[in-house]
Amino acid sequence: MKRVLLSLCVLGAVTAYSQNQNPENAKMKPEMTEFWDPEVKVVTPSENNINAPSDAVVLFDGTSESLIQNWTNAKGEAPGWNVADNCVTVVKGTGTINTKMAFEDFQLHIEWRSPGIVDPESKSQGRGNSGVFMQGLYELQVLDNYNNRTYRNGQAGSFYKQYAPLVNVCKKPGEWQTYDVIFTAPRFKADSTVFSPARATVLQNGVLVQNNVSLFGPTEYIGIPKYKFHGPGSIVLQDHGNPVSYRNIWIRKL
Ligand code: MG
Repeated sequence: MKRVLLSLCVLGAVTAYSQNQNPENAKMKPEMTEFWDPEVKVVTPSENNINAPSDAVVLFDGTSESLIQNWTNAKGEAPGWNVADNCVTVVKGTGTINTKMAFEDFQLHIEWRSPGIVDPESKSQGRGNSGVFMQGLYELQVLDNYNNRTYRNGQAGSFYKQYAPLVNVCKKPGEWQTYDVIFTAPRFKADSTVFSPARATVLQNGVLVQNNVSLFGPTEYIGIPKYKFHGPGSIVLQDHGNPVSYRNIWIRKL
């Protein structure tokens, strides 16, 4: 009985506290702040929470058919990258590949693997370099930074030359790694100047490496980024001359 009385006292105190915070609440009923419609859409997750959920667009499922259906090289031709063992690997000199579809705001899942055999002469930016470009313009760096230092805003998990990753969570070369990206496209005013910059959150191997960062503009190798008006854009994967592999790529439009 004592316990019931105590609970009632606590509930009374909490109710009084919340009403004191906003006197208008005293006139309200609980259902006045309950929203039922439209009902939230049902999405079925994958069994392992890594494969595509039911509402995702699968951009690469490990087959050549999937690659040819969804990707081209920069000339609009079939990609020259190599498909084997459920993954696609950069073939040096064949150039970037890009999705045929263009995207604005999205959730992207992509898995990548640095080459397993490391050239002992390779270091810094020369080891397992590739990249994932959001809208073809904003590079999330792919690099083998397992015991390989480089400039902090150019290592794996960085938005190249803009934001270093919060931590270095790279696995050994030859092991598969994941990127999960939440990307909000920039918005532009009628005069084509930027209204709100692109924003991105990234988890690498399930660990937060970019926390809702505000990008300065499209990635530049040399110089300061600057926004220029653009519409929806492709996901682009970089050929930087190293045989980096990708698999299980899917995207959800937001
Ligand atoms: Mg790169």
